[in-house]
Amino acid sequence: MATYDTIIIGAGGMGSAVAYHAARRGQRVLAIDRFTPAHDKGSSHGRSRVIRKAYFEDPRYVPMLHRAYELWHELDRNTNEKLLHFCGVLNMGPAEHECIRGVLDCAREHGLPHELLDATEIERRWPTFKPAPDDVGVFEADGGFHLPERAIQLHLQLAETNGAEFRWSTEVRSWKATPDEVRIATSDGEHVAKNLVITAGAWLPTLANALALPIKIERQVQLWWKPKDAALCRHDRMPAFIHFTADRAYYGIPSTADEGPKIARHHGGDITTADALDRSLRTEDESDVRAYIRNHVPNADGPLLAHAVCMYTNTPDDHFILDRHPQHENVIIAGGFSGHGFKFAPLVGEITADLLDANAEREPIGLFEIKRLMRGPR
Ligand SMILES: Cc1cc2nc3c(=O)[nH]c(=O)nc-3n(C[C@H](O)[C@H](O)[C@H](O)COP(=O)(O)OP(=O)(O)OC[C@H]3O[C@@H](n4cnc5c(N)ncnc54)[C@H](O)[C@@H]3O)c2cc1C
Repeated sequence: MATYDTIIIGAGGMGSAVAYHAARRGQRVLAIDRFTPAHDKGSSHGRSRVIRKAYFEDPRYVPMLHRAYELWHELDRNTNEKLLHFCGVLNMGPAEHECIRGVLDCAREHGLPHELLDATEIERRWPTFKPAPDDVGVFEADGGFHLPERAIQLHLQLAETNGAEFRWSTEVRSWKATPDEVRIATSDGEHVAKNLVITAGAWLPTLANALALPIKIERQVQLWWKPKDAALCRHDRMPAFIHFTADRAYYGIPSTADEGPKIARHHGGDITTADALDRSLRTEDESDVRAYIRNHVPNADGPLLAHAVCMYTNTPDDHFILDRHPQHENVIIAGGFSGHGFKFAPLVGEITADLLDANAEREPIGLFEIKRLMRGPR
């Protein structure tokens, strides 16, 4: 007899949201995590994450972003907290860069409010930036950043209030599914449920190894800098930004208190595995971003204040996986968030809860289907 309706492997950014959305619908939920709540060993730590709607990655994400924003606002309202900070998002780069064109096309297609600025206007409005003379900026006021660790804590609290149970510091070693139940073997014994959700982040390749998914785990280093003029880097004077240069991309998030802005490189990290990740700070981690800062955000060119090593879980097309397991209807996989998933976390919770609920009649989303990634027979 299954003790639970659903077991969730991984209670990080996505698993915590799934736990809440499934539990609030009356499911008996158990979420298991190898670490502790809102830990710093996976992909959801580092104090801040960018949230934006003009999506250069693909305009098909926009309707989902509208819903994700609604759910983030709902979380703020229900908990009396403020996770969302709307300082705006500035996309900078050469006008012909495919991502700048992507942001503009997406904003126009979906009627998203935005401003197109030249380099002089960018510097005039936000003196902390020094774009290249030919750069343009697409500014989206309806964007900014939110607070991932707090979001996880709140989702966990709400899940618990709705009856979800948790096992922390417990590693799932294997699972076995039949149409009626899923048995999960952990470092602390076996658990049985009707359904399984795998939200294991960078450990997805291990937990779904039979699928041989073509996923790459990428090392990413977050860096915090002491600015020369701290006031110019606060969220009321500086937007979050992504800067596309000829062959690289850097992003930044302003400071909310005295911690200094976070400025780091987007992609370009070593390919690794979750267990082999090098969490130390290498000389080149700092020197690469400092060279960028000297050229384009000179106000932030002070001492390095802190760093945190994190992981992207990349699919070949950078789109997510959110689908039923191809061999097991009662196993749902939510992973491969490819470095841009956090802003969708409550929506991933809602969609997964729908997929678990026969009455919800939700079909998996084509863009996120697992079969597009499978090499062998489907
Ligand atoms: C540096 C960095 C910057 C980013 N910036 C942005 C951004 O600005 N905007 C944005 O939208 N997204 C951003 N992202 C992406 C986003 O943060 C991730 O997509 C998201 O956090 C992934 O959540 P997750 O639940 O898949 O992974 P995690 O939060 O890592 O959760 C996975 C969980 O599974 C657990 N687990 C794994 N294996 C087992 C096992 N065998 N047994 C038990 N538990 C297990 C882990 O302990 C972990 O808690 C960024 C990511 C990084 C790394």
